[in-house]
Amino acid sequence: MLQIIFTIEDGKANKTFNQEKDANSSIALAASSPEQQASTNQPKASLTSDKAAVPTANPVPSSPEQQVSTNQPETSQTPDKAEVPTANPVPPVPREEILRSVPAAGKRVALTFDDGPSSRYTLEYLRVLREHQVPATFFLIGSKIESNPVLASAIAGDGHEIGNHTYSHPNLKQQNETVIKEQISRTSDLITRWTSQKEITLFRPPGGNYGPGLIKVASEMNLRVVMWRIDPRDWEKNKTASEIIAIVKKNLEPGAIILLHEGKPQTLAALPILITDLRNDGWDFVTVSQLIGETNESI
Ligand SMILES: [Zn+2]
Repeated sequence: MLQIIFTIEDGKANKTFNQEKDANSSIALAASSPEQQASTNQPKASLTSDKAAVPTANPVPSSPEQQVSTNQPETSQTPDKAEVPTANPVPPVPREEILRSVPAAGKRVALTFDDGPSSRYTLEYLRVLREHQVPATFFLIGSKIESNPVLASAIAGDGHEIGNHTYSHPNLKQQNETVIKEQISRTSDLITRWTSQKEITLFRPPGGNYGPGLIKVASEMNLRVVMWRIDPRDWEKNKTASEIIAIVKKNLEPGAIILLHEGKPQTLAALPILITDLRNDGWDFVTVSQLIGETNESI
């Protein structure tokens, strides 16, 4: 945690942190040492302690699946890599293509979480992803980064990718290009200011609503527009964890981008089971940039 705090306050500390990450692995999560885990576990206590109203009880039911899954985080990586040989990389995906899935990625999928950071749930999501060594992509809202800059920093600090999801979550179909540009640039500025990720290449329009204006602006700003292939509508009020899991599994296809949301207890409850089930079926998890065979050097 200290490293994350330094990231915000001290540019030199930030550099040190990144070097540590780089030295470990291209996927920081997969290579996180016991020391790293210990240090990233600490912020949970300090961050939740200043939110007295937040229950510290683990909302994720402690299931046998969960216990099994925490015992086998590394095993899934090797066999999957064999099925997706690195000698056969994903063909370049044109930047102007609206991304929904990347079939050439094989048995890889990208978990994406929209609408955070969430003061109540982000750290819990991060804990589950860390325990299962799953990299994900978070599409953050600028105004929520302003409210929770430490959480935005924690997301990047755990090696996840951050995408831009506008500043105030408007329907971009109803906005002109000037407003769209401002929504995007203001949020990208916040991401680079508060997190260790210095390059933002991914953008997701709120509600998936976009028109020609956004396509033009995204092209000018060199951003990829990222939609999704699988949407279990996890944000719905009465949606259960088992329904979310069933919808995702039913619609799985190679290279699918899966849309989930932050701040949803049912999504959080579904996450460890979903991860374990998919891994048992031979699926691997990557960030959106990894899915298209690119690496964001600043992650
Ligand atoms: Zn959204």
